[in-house]
Amino acid sequence: MRDHFEVRAQDAGGRIGDLTVPRAGVTVETPTLMPVVNPNIITVDPARFREFGAEILITNSYIIKNDADLRERALDEGLHEMLDFDGAIMTDSGSFQLAEYGEIDTDTEEILDFQHAIGSDIGTPVDIPTPPDVPRERAEEELEETQRRLELAETVDTGEMLVNAPVQGSTYPDLRERAGRHAENTSLDVFPIGAVVPLMNDYRYGEMADVVAAAKRGLGRDAPVHLFGAGHPMMFALAAALGCDLFDSAAYALYARDGRYLTVHGTEHLDSLQYFPCGCPVCADHTPDEVQRMPDAAQEELLAEHNLHVSFTELRRVKQAIRQGSLLELVEARAHAHPRVLDGYRAFLDHADQYEASDPVSKDTFYYTSPESARRPEVVRHRERLERFSLPDTVLLAESGTDDDFDETWRVRPPLGPYPRELATSYPFTAEVPERMDDAGYESAAKGVSRLVALNPDTEFTLAHRDWPARALDYVPPRVELVNLETGHTTDSGAEDDA
Ligand SMILES: [Zn+2]
Repeated sequence: MRDHFEVRAQDAGGRIGDLTVPRAGVTVETPTLMPVVNPNIITVDPARFREFGAEILITNSYIIKNDADLRERALDEGLHEMLDFDGAIMTDSGSFQLAEYGEIDTDTEEILDFQHAIGSDIGTPVDIPTPPDVPRERAEEELEETQRRLELAETVDTGEMLVNAPVQGSTYPDLRERAGRHAENTSLDVFPIGAVVPLMNDYRYGEMADVVAAAKRGLGRDAPVHLFGAGHPMMFALAAALGCDLFDSAAYALYARDGRYLTVHGTEHLDSLQYFPCGCPVCADHTPDEVQRMPDAAQEELLAEHNLHVSFTELRRVKQAIRQGSLLELVEARAHAHPRVLDGYRAFLDHADQYEASDPVSKDTFYYTSPESARRPEVVRHRERLERFSLPDTVLLAESGTDDDFDETWRVRPPLGPYPRELATSYPFTAEVPERMDDAGYESAAKGVSRLVALNPDTEFTLAHRDWPARALDYVPPRVELVNLETGHTTDSGAEDDA
């Protein structure tokens, strides 16, 4: 158990946590966003970060160390004074520069000592950020080197400063899982999933989700996880559902410099906007036309402010959704606004059995809003739990009504399939589903019927359905008698002719 991180609420893989940062004397509520501060280029004054909701920022100790003026000030005043920020400060080590330029002139011991000396609250060793798609041999070798450096970092005296244990492994899920397990077994404190920026820059959210899910399998549930370089609000809900607790945004400033305006559905260019689709103070007080006419520096600052507002607003929405148990509804809404986020959500659903274990058993009403809903962890869990029930000789599975000719009547409904009627008022069987159900929902229900039948070989089943499509009924075993409640038509399962 890591005593500096406590999970207070959970939904899917998402959680609301308290990250205690002892050196800063603060507790940060997660999920949260750490605005990135480049000490050479301040776009928004860190003293103002609290206005947006930032409790922690991240800056780069390597840049500070290599700039004579900044180094002297940081050593003299300390980072908090230098940046005028009283929250927690995380520092990066130069690993990013290592990935960009191939070499750097520091090492893990020296940079951790330096981060400690300048008053960082969470420091970082020099890990090797292995990019996506490299040959496996390289990913393995570099991971071994990163692991040696994490072990070295454990031996450095860093006082109360927390220390990051980056998780590498490129796009190889088994290496990410191994890296997660190794990092978990160190005495280090916070777990950044590293080198995913190239995936996110190319909107490869499906592969990003696979990488995160793999790292999470290795890390324990009480490990605070930082998705390194994740700064676009369109993917915060997805990343939170995957179990990420910390994000960092250079995007707010970098995008602003290019005249780009972040939204939860994607990125707009200021020049293409006639209206601001946002209620933040910047957007409420200005029109796009006014901002377009401003000098570059003023325009950049306002866009950066909007970008921070929209990011923290989305994080509050994510946290409220976790509290209500509606995080996956939010993820679905985001996924259906952008095909790449949909890829990420579908990849998350590929891991539904992994996330099922951490999903709360009871929460807000399940809303079925797309075929993807049929693959949610709740649906997977219910189907798995069918083995807990013992059934009598004859059972009617009916979408409505009961029949005393049977020993027992169960309810059956897309997408959840069959369930005892006494559960009808409990989660997730209170699900709100569309009148015009899609094939995925019917097929999911039929697979549930199939599993229940397989688990109870001595029970006779009848399925009374409301005109399910043939494609779904194909999943129902032939020994089940079928009654179509819409037509009154009774048959044995159509599959019997093929058997
Ligand atoms: Zn705005």
